[in-house]
Amino acid sequence: THQIHIIGGGLAGSEAAWQLAEAGFRVKLSEMRGAPVDKGGEMTPAHQTDGLAELVCSNSFRSDDADSNAVGLIHQEMRTLGSLILREADIHKVPAGSALAVDRDGFSAGVTAALTAHPNIEIVRERVDTLPDSGPVIVATGPLTAPALADQIGGATGKDALAFFDAIAPIVHHDSIDMDVAWMASRWDKGDTKDYINCPMTRDEYLAFHTGLMEGEKTEFKEWEDVPYFEGCMPIEVAAARGVDTLRYGPMKPVGLDDPRTGRWPYAVVQLRQDNASGTLWNIVGFQTKLKHAEQVRLFRTIPGLQNAEFARLGGLHRNTFIRSPELLDATLRLKARPNIRFAGQITGCEGYVESAAIGLLAGRFAAAELGGAAMTPPPVETALGALLHHITGAAVAETYQPMNVNFGLFPPITGRTKKADRKKMYTERARTALGVWLAA
Ligand code: FAD
Repeated sequence: THQIHIIGGGLAGSEAAWQLAEAGFRVKLSEMRGAPVDKGGEMTPAHQTDGLAELVCSNSFRSDDADSNAVGLIHQEMRTLGSLILREADIHKVPAGSALAVDRDGFSAGVTAALTAHPNIEIVRERVDTLPDSGPVIVATGPLTAPALADQIGGATGKDALAFFDAIAPIVHHDSIDMDVAWMASRWDKGDTKDYINCPMTRDEYLAFHTGLMEGEKTEFKEWEDVPYFEGCMPIEVAAARGVDTLRYGPMKPVGLDDPRTGRWPYAVVQLRQDNASGTLWNIVGFQTKLKHAEQVRLFRTIPGLQNAEFARLGGLHRNTFIRSPELLDATLRLKARPNIRFAGQITGCEGYVESAAIGLLAGRFAAAELGGAAMTPPPVETALGALLHHITGAAVAETYQPMNVNFGLFPPITGRTKKADRKKMYTERARTALGVWLAA
């Protein structure tokens, strides 16, 4: 029999299960994908496999720079705390400049194998429709929590679950890209790292493309019309509507990208990033969209180099469910009204694969401490883990709470006069010291 029940085998649930199992506690992990029909088996609108910790969109864990980037720093902290998600990401890494990107299938298979093989973990393929009344539970069902459970959560939290739009970007088969037109390079590269495929656009091509985005037929979601977009995952046509040059200063910016055919920066550039280990699939960076599928194919084939593009997946738009954590959860992620229940992952209102796994890691550790009869002090707010946790569990304003990526703005400010260039290093150095002190205690 298990000592703790984790619902949801995504990024957060997988990491929480690992942390608890490694601490010696017996875990039941329920996942609805891959369950038989009579156990409520179903996919979410974004998942496509039965694998645990499936990445539903980009294959990137973002910057791996632990000296000057908050995501890179949280990677490092998670590695220090024995994260399974980071371990498998490192094993299944694909080239992406200074970012940590992974082969999505290898990564998910690695996580699934590790959890399946663990003697303390029982993976049960079933959909859970009710919140258990007693016994320790971690709810890690993500932004696409199945509706019955989402209703239950709404009941338990006494608030309507919040929701907003999230969009995903298309993926292209490499052998359908015209490499006589497109070229490999990283921005500002000196010729050694050539991690992105770049498609150049002239002014006329860019303006025609912009018009196409504006006029293209979109999938409409009437009931969602007033729901705000998350800035980091805004559909490209929504960004385009802000102004004709918005994309040229955003995902299509040409700076630092010399076209080998002209020796100059093009007017605009469309970038593709490697999506799997073998390099057969590439995703179009920043091109999440709610254009209708046929419209996407037509319009994206007007991009020079992609005129014959074959798409492995087209873009789309999805729901995102999260609770008002700052007022509902205590400092160790327990629901104040029902403390046997912890929340973890994106449903707490963190945003991103890494952040979801990070909160899963903390939920697992808090639960393990509690099961072991000990109290665990949350990591200090000077660390990336602590800063993110602190934001979720109280620092954010509940009324305007929106999903949040980890960033230095969540950390206590560095006081005194400092040069801007030195500040990031000061944040990360202070964080490492604080983590060391916390671990020693
Ligand atoms: P998930 O990884 O979604 O895991 C939740 C799990 O719970 C799923 O496996 C699901 O099947 C299961 N489940 C749900 N309900 C039940 C139930 N009732 N019973 C049993 N099991 C259940 N983040 C990024 O960093 N980069 C991106 O590119 C990105 N793109 C996104 C695109 C979309 C469409 C969405 C929705 C989100 C995206 N995110 C992205 C945000 C976020 O990082 C991911 O959603 C991430 O997977 C969240 O991790 P999680 O563990 O909280 O949830």
